[in-house]
Amino acid sequence: SWVRVKARLRTEVGDDVFSSWFGRMELEGIDEGGVRLSVPTRFLKSWIQSHYAEKVLTCWQADRSEVGRIELIVRSAVLKTTAQPKPKVEPALAMHGENRPHNGNGMSRPIPVGDAAVHEALGGSPLDARLTFDSFVVGRSNTLAQAAAKQVAAARRTDPVMFNPLYIHAGVGLGKTHLLQAITWAGNAGGERKVLYLTAEKFMYGFVAALRAQNAIAFKEALRGIGVLVIDDLQFLQGKSTQAEFCHTLNALIDAGRQVVIASDRPPSELESLDERVRSRLAGGLVVEMGGLGEELRLEILKARVQAARAHHPTFDVPLPVLGYIAKTVTHNGRDLEGALNRLLAHSKLTGQSVTMEMAEREVKDLIRPQEPKRVKIEDIQRIVARQYNVSRSDLLSSRRTANVVRPRQVAMYLAKTLTLRSLPEIGRRFGGRDHTTVLHAVRKIEGLVGNDVTLSEEIEILKRQLQE
Ligand code: ADP
Ligand code: MG
Repeated sequence: SWVRVKARLRTEVGDDVFSSWFGRMELEGIDEGGVRLSVPTRFLKSWIQSHYAEKVLTCWQADRSEVGRIELIVRSAVLKTTAQPKPKVEPALAMHGENRPHNGNGMSRPIPVGDAAVHEALGGSPLDARLTFDSFVVGRSNTLAQAAAKQVAAARRTDPVMFNPLYIHAGVGLGKTHLLQAITWAGNAGGERKVLYLTAEKFMYGFVAALRAQNAIAFKEALRGIGVLVIDDLQFLQGKSTQAEFCHTLNALIDAGRQVVIASDRPPSELESLDERVRSRLAGGLVVEMGGLGEELRLEILKARVQAARAHHPTFDVPLPVLGYIAKTVTHNGRDLEGALNRLLAHSKLTGQSVTMEMAEREVKDLIRPQEPKRVKIEDIQRIVARQYNVSRSDLLSSRRTANVVRPRQVAMYLAKTLTLRSLPEIGRRFGGRDHTTVLHAVRKIEGLVGNDVTLSEEIEILKRQLQE
């Protein structure tokens, strides 16, 4: 059953995540109600516990419903050396060489490091051959990010580094990974500066492996052989020691004039768990936000996608009004646009019918988001609440308890809780380092009042409308 559980886990989290975190997990034993699993490092244990505990449990329960509890232990060093298969030694950056869309001039020289763990760490995360600058559609919300990315990809070794790091942030599905991989493809095809693309998970995993092999120095040296280090989804970087290593790496690379590019779903100031020094270093380069894809941009992306699909499916076509309909209604993000087209493609292939408006309306129904709620930022809440009640933002964050500040502060915390996904402790921290119970108290207080206090509930409605505009 362990084999089935592993297979299920793999399909649920994807190959990449599975091999990073669960590849070396082993079954130690099963007794009534509980399963004992082991991993080779403390880091893996705490990572799996904090990120995948639920998932592991449900995968077990799907197989044996009586399992009520998972116990995760760290295998002893002795066990580890005998149980571990010898790591395969692969040339570093093989991924980039194999998948490169335009065959460059074959300059994928492996980085000369001896340690397998280091190789693994430097192997780079898999790249998608479709995510290039050519297929990236530029519009108002991403012009700056695209220009900066192109600049980075085209820069030569001797060029002065203009902005370092380049930090791109945007919500899910708005093209961060696309741009980062475009830099990687273009940079490596151009040949001047070697670009290494790593997800934050891969970066962390690399460090764990390198540290376990006690070869952190070799790892760092090898990293220094990289011209451009690209790290995707930085918000997933967790853990004190990983962050310390990340900080060293970042400083070493930047001080040596190497380019660092980072993508995250939030600005540096909101990377709650990250060390203050790292945050300020990140904010010290160029920070660019990519906004939502506007309707025009969505239409252009759809057109480009249809063109690309026609290379493989020449009979596939989507009338312009249908594309317009999808661009108007499927507003969420690039992934949903792709999903919508894929369904039309599949449907028209399977039925042999050409795509019509009716088909589109039926097929994309569940992808339609009537009004896309805007991502509201805590700063904006504080700014707008302060303006509305005529107090200063620093009053809101201060410890003053006069009535004219207390109420606006409670309203602002209430809005932060209802309009953002931030947790109570996070909100407390952003409100001058308050305790989460204070935030909870404020939220409850306002919730209790809005039902009876018409003025207050109107004020809150107005604030919400302003924030969501
Ligand atoms: P993120 O990493 O920000 O979550 P992705 O880069 O994975 O988002 O983008 C999601 C999907 O939307 C991908 O298929 C991507 O190619 C597409 N996409 C997003 N923005 C653009 C764009 N400007 N031009 C073309 N495709 C885009
Ligand atoms: Mg991404």
